Amino acid sequence: MYLTNLECAACERGHPPGRLHNLCESCGMPLLARYDLDAAGAALAKTSLATRPANLWRYRELLPVADPAAVVTLGEGYTPLLRADRLGARLGLANLYVKDEALNPTGTFKARGMAVAVSMARQLGATELAVPSAGNAGGALAAYAARAGLSAHVFMPRDTPRANVVECERAGARITLVDGLISDCARLVAEYCGNGGGFDVSTLREPYRVEGKKTMGFELAEQLGWRLPDVVVYPTGGGTGLVGMWKAFDELAQLGWIDGYRPRMVAVQADGCAPIVTAFLAGATHATEVVGATTVASGLRVPRAIGDFIMLDVLRRSGGTAIAVSDPELLAAVAELDRLEGIFPAPEGAACVPAVRKLVANGEIGADEIVVIFNTGSGLKYL
Ligand SMILES: *Cc1c(COP(=O)(O)O)cnc(C)c1O
Ligand SMILES: [Zn+2]
Repeated sequence: MYLTNLECAACERGHPPGRLHNLCESCGMPLLARYDLDAAGAALAKTSLATRPANLWRYRELLPVADPAAVVTLGEGYTPLLRADRLGARLGLANLYVKDEALNPTGTFKARGMAVAVSMARQLGATELAVPSAGNAGGALAAYAARAGLSAHVFMPRDTPRANVVECERAGARITLVDGLISDCARLVAEYCGNGGGFDVSTLREPYRVEGKKTMGFELAEQLGWRLPDVVVYPTGGGTGLVGMWKAFDELAQLGWIDGYRPRMVAVQADGCAPIVTAFLAGATHATEVVGATTVASGLRVPRAIGDFIMLDVLRRSGGTAIAVSDPELLAAVAELDRLEGIFPAPEGAACVPAVRKLVANGEIGADEIVVIFNTGSGLKYL
């Protein structure tokens, strides 16, 4: 509706949004959606949100889908922001919250990105969609493609959690199991789509998944009464949520709905695959691909991310940090979060708990700060 341009995150070249795009035609970097925010702000008052449905389409003026009839939805978004007082007390924090993304369709926040990407792909005439996935993106694509009547082809590592393979199968997606990691799957998808196999909806190679994920940033602001927390702790693979939330904060500030205050953004990774942590600590602007990546938190097993430079920039500009935790630490935190709060988290979300514990211990998070950790999915997908 108010989408005006797709702008390259690196060279700023514009691309007309009226047709399908992947990366920048000049430099091969991700494209980001730009809106006429003055017009969007004139059409939408933040007070009118209160009467809208509790899903991410409540922010439709700030999303790319022009035609409401083109929206493919399973009710994604507007997940609860839960106070976590018992876990907070254990960690020495007076104001800890969990944004519980497990309540999304398909059990993870991948639903947000796929709802918007599949809606746009259908609006722009794509019929076959392909994606490399560590698991949950494939499950979400399979579900939304089924609902849209489009075909999906998911390329996943052979050792992806069983639930992800089953959910893709049941939704009628084609599945290619790959002896390798998501980065190997990504190369296969690029080749497959280059040979006419379909439209590549890899995160940040497709411009609208990040638009779906940015709604987590809108929700944080709205649920906290149009102020942002002090610290946002995010389990990071491809980094789409980090990039998206930061973009959302900028858009809200341009609308005049929030002031200039920004949270410190914290990227959490696993010891066995921590390219962003390594690059952050080294002061690098890009990350180096991890060889032999291993972690039980399959969504964090992303050896290389095309949006690495955007993530690193967000972490630095926010005054945040990046931190890795071990698999035993994050697995122990699955049970800790469930016993203390009744939230059975995905191992990726649980990884935020030991990360926060370390940052409190070394003084990087203060006892009274408002801290939000993201539980990005349900533990039920990892039985
Ligand atoms: C994909 C995924 C992540 C990582 O998300 P990004 O936005 O790609 O960094 C974290 N947790 C779960 C459960 C995931 O499926
Ligand atoms: Zn470019």
